[in-house]
Amino acid sequence: MADREHIIVAGAGPVGAVAALAAAQRGFRVTVVEANAGIETDNAPRAATFHPSTLELVDEIGIIDEFVSAGLVCRYFDFWDKTTGTLVARMDHDTLRDDTPFPFVVQTEQHKLVRIVLERLRRMPEVDIRLGWSVDSIEQDADRVTVRIGRDAETEVLTGAWLFGCDGGRSTVRKALDIEFEGYTWPERFAVLTTLHDFEAEMGCSYRAYFADPDQWVNLFKVAGDDMRGRWRVVFAARPDQTDEDALGDGHAAKVMSAVHPSAGTRSLVHRNIYNVHQRVAAAFRAGRVFLAGDAAHVNNPIGGLGLNCGVHDALELVHTVDEVAAGLSGAPLLDRYERRRRPINIEFVQQQTVDNKRRLEEKDPAKRRERLDDLARISNDKEAQRAFLRRTSLLDAVVRAQEID
Ligand SMILES: Cc1cc2nc3c(=O)[nH]c(=O)nc-3n(C[C@H](O)[C@H](O)[C@H](O)COP(=O)(O)OP(=O)(O)OC[C@H]3O[C@@H](n4cnc5c(N)ncnc54)[C@H](O)[C@@H]3O)c2cc1C
Repeated sequence: MADREHIIVAGAGPVGAVAALAAAQRGFRVTVVEANAGIETDNAPRAATFHPSTLELVDEIGIIDEFVSAGLVCRYFDFWDKTTGTLVARMDHDTLRDDTPFPFVVQTEQHKLVRIVLERLRRMPEVDIRLGWSVDSIEQDADRVTVRIGRDAETEVLTGAWLFGCDGGRSTVRKALDIEFEGYTWPERFAVLTTLHDFEAEMGCSYRAYFADPDQWVNLFKVAGDDMRGRWRVVFAARPDQTDEDALGDGHAAKVMSAVHPSAGTRSLVHRNIYNVHQRVAAAFRAGRVFLAGDAAHVNNPIGGLGLNCGVHDALELVHTVDEVAAGLSGAPLLDRYERRRRPINIEFVQQQTVDNKRRLEEKDPAKRRERLDDLARISNDKEAQRAFLRRTSLLDAVVRAQEID
């Protein structure tokens, strides 16, 4: 394929890595600039849930088999009432059999996606991977974007046709463009305990199980781990007045875990972390030749596992867009379409659902709580309602909606 325009990708998190691979596969020359010198491991637990709509994109970039075999296939998705220890609803992704070739969720840790993608990128001659280099500043004119990158005392200047800002929630690219990150930060932080305790064996829950409780909701999900032996993540909200040490300490951790199942103690804990949670969307997703994608463009609470999925959708939409422009299709309206599609989709599907998911789990009003749980039970008992529910939660509807936006 003839040499095509040069794309600079800021950040090799999952979104930047996927965008870089998709662009390189379309013949673009790509430079990936990543501030970290190495790829993360189990020691930095982050997202792991990949929904059917995103698996279709993982398939599009040609890595689906390797990706699925690095994780766990989850057909079911549970809602429990933690106050009574009872299963309220079990959603079956197989009801999406006619909607997608992937009627299941795959729980593969995001660092494994990055590892798989970078291995592919390293074999591509038109790709330059700069690990340990940071994007420091940006300039642009009508024809090109100029990016200054640095590593220790070294600096270099790159020029490209496009810059993809995939550099995460604290995005240097977004700040350099002076784009507002509109929204708010929740007062409570989310804590994650990783344990070898087997909740499925003990209580028969699915690999993704959400536990509603007005006092302390909990989410459980299972991942394979780097050793592929399996481990569970226990997610809960720390009280705003609680210190990190208290929220993650043995006393509180034991209380949280044993409230899910009495046999779950702290002995099997292998990792603990805590982080701030936001609901924010960038005021613009493009400025000239620079685009924002993934967490650089939007962040949300992790209940529903939607943020990273939406970011991967951004990545493919962005590459399709610049591909069409490079092929000579109309420039500015097409470039604007990226924001026209991705920004409202994030607000309508990701921000709304994640806020609603959080409210559902923490609802304190007894009548509303009953209503919400009854609603989930009703959905799980009606195949069409369940299909509609899962089409929305797995972003299949978001894909259709985005395609409708011209
Ligand atoms: C602690 C934590 C736990 C999370 N847990 C969950 C979860 O359980 N479920 C869930 O759905 N989501 C979770 N998330 C959110 C999820 O991890 C993100 O949505 C996802 O990582 C977004 O991918 P990304 O590629 O857009 O950004 P990132 O993964 O943040 O990647 C951005 C990359 O850019 C690099 N970078 C930053 N600045 C520069 C620069 N100036 N130059 C070059 N490179 C730069 C960074 O080093 C990083 O590698 C969590 C997030 C955090 C922080």
